[in-house]
Amino acid sequence: MKVFDHAVVRLLPVVPRGVVRRVAAPYIAGETLGDARRVVAGLTAAGIEATVDVLGEEVTRPDEAEAIARAYHDALEAIEHDGLAANVSVKLTALGAKVDMALCRSLTERVLRDASERGIFVRIDMEDSSMTDDTLELYRALRAGGHGEVGIVLQAALRRTLDDIAALADLRPSVRLCKGIYLEPSSIAFQEPDVIRKSFVACLDALLEAGCRTAIATHDEWLLERSLERVQGLGPDAYEFQMLLGVRIDRGRELAAAGHLLRVYVPYGKRWYEYSLRRLQENPKVAGYVARDMVGRLVPGR
Ligand SMILES: Cc1cc2nc3c(=O)[nH]c(=O)nc-3n(C[C@H](O)[C@H](O)[C@H](O)COP(=O)(O)OP(=O)(O)OC[C@H]3O[C@@H](n4cnc5c(N)ncnc54)[C@H](O)[C@@H]3O)c2cc1C
Repeated sequence: MKVFDHAVVRLLPVVPRGVVRRVAAPYIAGETLGDARRVVAGLTAAGIEATVDVLGEEVTRPDEAEAIARAYHDALEAIEHDGLAANVSVKLTALGAKVDMALCRSLTERVLRDASERGIFVRIDMEDSSMTDDTLELYRALRAGGHGEVGIVLQAALRRTLDDIAALADLRPSVRLCKGIYLEPSSIAFQEPDVIRKSFVACLDALLEAGCRTAIATHDEWLLERSLERVQGLGPDAYEFQMLLGVRIDRGRELAAAGHLLRVYVPYGKRWYEYSLRRLQENPKVAGYVARDMVGRLVPGR
């Protein structure tokens, strides 16, 4: 990334929310469930599956966590009603993990029961490293409690991930493998892009070797190529590719056209700001987009 882009990434938190909203629009279905339904229906019609995510992280009050759980109920009902090819992803902090872990567990179980009655799979997103142990512990407890249709996410950037794969192998978990979006210290996370890539490949090999159904979540062409070599001859029970809404759409379509299962992550909701900042910080062209939007606002009639 160029120096100017780095500067804009650092300044993003002070960019007006209206600008962030407009520039991040391709990454979000919209603010309402109706918006998500429309986007997912379009994907379903194109032979692409979806993961619906209700935006909302680090809620600070129990009633906010309850509201997110209710929003998941509505989303699950809509997926079933519309016959959409979709499952859902949840964030534990959105279900109250930082408020009260017992509340979070009971709300997560409520979502799981609701989903399971409709035959819909639930994946627990992985958040920053303050949540890794809690997330893996809750996952194990949920599996021990008989919840089968639930999966987790592991981050190749974390030094611990190969050990986590070995420790979880007895459960043969369904795992989404990604690089990991959160900034973590070098004591616990690899920092160099090439080292993270190598870790991703090693984790992918370990997951496939352990017979875990693996969702390969990356837009990185080098990793897509390595992954395609590895999944040759495997069926949709063994793997799928996953991408984020609005990122490398053409490459995603190519993968689907070549017969791979592609699932697109479709976030929606009123709490779009934090998610948007993360997506913009990853966009190599962010500086240009933000600058164009700001100039568009400042120069009337442009
Ligand atoms: C379906 C899915 C679910 C995820 N879930 C989690 C999770 O639970 N926890 C977590 O920590 N992380 C999650 N992530 C994020 C992930 O960890 C990475 O931060 C993110 O995918 C970027 O890494 P990359 O492998 O795509 O490689 P990158 O090197 O970041 O991207 C490769 C290329 O993709 C394009 N690109 C990437 N991002 C953008 C963008 N925003 N705008 C435009 N172009 C872009 C660029 O051309 C870039 O060069 C998820 C990612 C996906 C795809």
